[in-house]
Amino acid sequence: MRVLLLFLDGIGLGADDPSLNPFAAARLPTLESLSGGYKWLNSAPRIESERATFIPTDACLGVAGRPQSATGQATILTGRNVPAEIGAHYGPYPDERIRAILAADNLYSRLTERGLSCSRLDAHPPHYLAELESGKRLRTALQHAAYVAGVRLPSLEALQACRALSADFLGDGWREVLKLPDVPVHTPQEAGALLAELARPHAFSLFSTWVTDEIGHHRDLARGVAFLERFDTVLASLLAAWDDSEGVIVITSDHGNLEDVSHRKHTQNAVPTVIIGAQRGEITPHIRALTDLAPALLRLFG
Ligand SMILES: [Zn+2]
Repeated sequence: MRVLLLFLDGIGLGADDPSLNPFAAARLPTLESLSGGYKWLNSAPRIESERATFIPTDACLGVAGRPQSATGQATILTGRNVPAEIGAHYGPYPDERIRAILAADNLYSRLTERGLSCSRLDAHPPHYLAELESGKRLRTALQHAAYVAGVRLPSLEALQACRALSADFLGDGWREVLKLPDVPVHTPQEAGALLAELARPHAFSLFSTWVTDEIGHHRDLARGVAFLERFDTVLASLLAAWDDSEGVIVITSDHGNLEDVSHRKHTQNAVPTVIIGAQRGEITPHIRALTDLAPALLRLFG
């Protein structure tokens, strides 16, 4: 069994309004093929499509307020209702209580303890990794879960050697924003094929992008549309390279944000979870909230 988790920070199911929701405005044929032709909106039902199950997923978990990244991500990787345990949605970075929950048990540690290979597929710039190492910058909940299990974050060298991808999928941001010229820039077709290839040697791989949440906080509709259309093309290529009998691809998020650029905050909308793969029927009936993902994925590993 092999699982590739594609984590898009801050995407929810919002209104059918192309003036404020990039999911309503963008052309997304691959995403919509996975949801039976429905746009990824609050009107989309739980649906079985040819290759996938599309599940509107509760991210509020019975706790008042707007869901946040640290509690949402910790819930995804532990299966515990972390906001209920600490009494609030909390983020963006985990505090001591959330770090303790992640250190006690998480999907990465469960799998590595059993000798199964785990990886992160998104590279991080040198200054960022140095700041994590020195304690100047806090790890996100997803990063902390990997850290306590001994799974390393890929570096610039990994990106240069095509052993990891950039959070923008193609690598152009490393050249244009970070001014690192010696970074490969992929076409969406190459990036999708590379994701499939990089996931193949591992039982569990996680690719995470923060770009979706950042675009939501900046209320940038046009950039949101462009980034989703980029993701759609990458996903088409990943799906072309992925054999549904070899494992499962999961797409999910920690909370809504990008789907409503009328304000800068997170939303209380359900988030989209998509499970692709021949064995998905073993787990999809058990998934309705973010707490259900880690137990479902562990069930796949027996
Ligand atoms: Zn955010």
